[in-house]
Amino acid sequence: METNKVKVIFISGSSHSGSTLLDKVLGSHPNGVSLGEVYLTYQKFKEKPEQFDNHKCSCGVNGNVCVFWQKIFIIWSSNDVKSYNQAYSLMLDHFITVYGKHAFLIDSSKYLPAIKEIQNLNDIELYIIHLIKDIRSYIVSQIDRAKQKGKYRRFANLKHARSWYNQNKKIQDYLSSKSMNYINLGYEELCMFPKLALNDICEFIGEPQVLELSKLENDKSHLLTGNAMRLDPKKSAIQYDFRWFNRRDWILPYYFWKKVRNYNSKVVYSRNYNQIFERSRKKE
Ligand SMILES: [Zn+2]
Repeated sequence: METNKVKVIFISGSSHSGSTLLDKVLGSHPNGVSLGEVYLTYQKFKEKPEQFDNHKCSCGVNGNVCVFWQKIFIIWSSNDVKSYNQAYSLMLDHFITVYGKHAFLIDSSKYLPAIKEIQNLNDIELYIIHLIKDIRSYIVSQIDRAKQKGKYRRFANLKHARSWYNQNKKIQDYLSSKSMNYINLGYEELCMFPKLALNDICEFIGEPQVLELSKLENDKSHLLTGNAMRLDPKKSAIQYDFRWFNRRDWILPYYFWKKVRNYNSKVVYSRNYNQIFERSRKKE
């Protein structure tokens, strides 16, 4: 049945869960258009519209002249736009005009408030991918991020572990209690087995499977806010951050909290791509 609904792929997750990477991977699909963290872009725009005049979009030009956002900013400037869900609907109209009915929109706004705002919109077909990074990697990268800012705290690893668990659990409990259309995807499984992950995602969202990942940078990628990797040419391919392999910071919380450890194993490695190794062992 033909509908005028826009297919929206929403990436949910904690802070620093790797959503920018998944956003770019999905944007490499011929039908996918990445818009990054739409919720954050809207909030920043409402706060100070002119900040995007000199702010680079991942398509290569500044936000105020970007082929997608330029028009959206004009629409959002209207006084009639009172709420985020209204702004979102208006954005969808423009999305269809620019990319056509068969394109799907990728929104990596991550957090629950953004989901709650759009979940009841009539003009979308919502697919949620809950992206979760291995807690050991998360702890190490959060500690290094804090150190870079000159902040060092004892037992920061416990704090980050708790935050990782609470953020992910809260989103997931909400998605399952509302019976929303979602899947879990481990960041590790995405990085180690991108083709398998992409095939699973395509099946979930009902899009033709793509055989090759094309360049992650392309002209239909419009990430205006979020992680700096959106603009970094060195990070235009999938690379796994394996810092934690050689670190000890994660050991204390990981072994202390069985509940958290079990949750990590269950949700991050839910797709079982590692079975490839088991099969090869049986052949010997
Ligand atoms: Zn752009």
